[in-house]
Amino acid sequence: MEDSKKIQAISSQAENPRQWLAAYLRNRADLASYRSDFDCDPACTRPGCKNQDLQIPVSIIDLLGAAMYRDTSVSAIYPGNYALGLLSNEREDWIRTVTLRLQKPCPFLENDRCSIYPVRPLPCILFPEYLVNEGKFEANARQDHFKDYLCFQRLIPLSPERAKVMTRLKKMWKRESFISSFYLFNHGLCHIDFSNLVKELSHEAGSPREAGSAGEMEPLRIIPNQVMEHFFLKHIAGCQPFAGVREKIDYLDTREGQVEFLQLLQDDRLMKKLKQCGDDRALVFRFVKGKLQAKRRSLSPPEYKFY
Ligand code: SF4
Repeated sequence: MEDSKKIQAISSQAENPRQWLAAYLRNRADLASYRSDFDCDPACTRPGCKNQDLQIPVSIIDLLGAAMYRDTSVSAIYPGNYALGLLSNEREDWIRTVTLRLQKPCPFLENDRCSIYPVRPLPCILFPEYLVNEGKFEANARQDHFKDYLCFQRLIPLSPERAKVMTRLKKMWKRESFISSFYLFNHGLCHIDFSNLVKELSHEAGSPREAGSAGEMEPLRIIPNQVMEHFFLKHIAGCQPFAGVREKIDYLDTREGQVEFLQLLQDDRLMKKLKQCGDDRALVFRFVKGKLQAKRRSLSPPEYKFY
């Protein structure tokens, strides 16, 4: 964006953050349907909104949008609808990304319809068309946990114009999620490596297998995400940089809090910096002896693959 336009955008956020946010959400909603040939099957039972095994990350924009749409405060809409959680991002190792996410089954699903449809989170808007755009549709359609999804049972048309919209929406999502993480944790994306906690996690998961005569639990090779999240919320979420998330969410109900977040969202230099800390220089925490230790390191396999 040119400097003069940027200054205009930033000053309009400072003057009226609600107006700026409403315009941003309108643009997002317009793009959500622009040139789309995709419609949910009328017979769809909404497994994506209900099933626990599909976690839906959200950004601060999604929280602000839902609060505005429901004419309530962010601090009132957060409890019961959203939570701090972990995403596997389809990884097969022990590294998880810390994120805000929707509760599941999604509390916004009412009579099998999305009750916040115009401001639904960007991941809900993107699914499943972005998979076609990224060439991942067929591989996902073969996955077991998508077997109940009617949208995977036929090919989804994607025109070149719609593909461009998908790319643009994905870029908006990347910015929203990076900046949300920065606002909440003072860092870009934060990851946790649980590989040193497999015994504890297996214990919490109640591994039924016993190894050797000592009767020790044999560590599990796959731990359910709920078990990892439960461990995270119980032992890790109270440590910096994850402590204080509720206060930061409540601060979004003030004009200052909204201006602060929206200005961060507009900051190209910050975004560039956060993107530079991508998968090669990711911020990865380990929980050791009750404390979090942080390290910048690569997330790429095979170094951190465990099988
Ligand atoms: S926000 Fe709406 S579309 Fe997204 S999971 Fe919830 S009910 Fe479904």
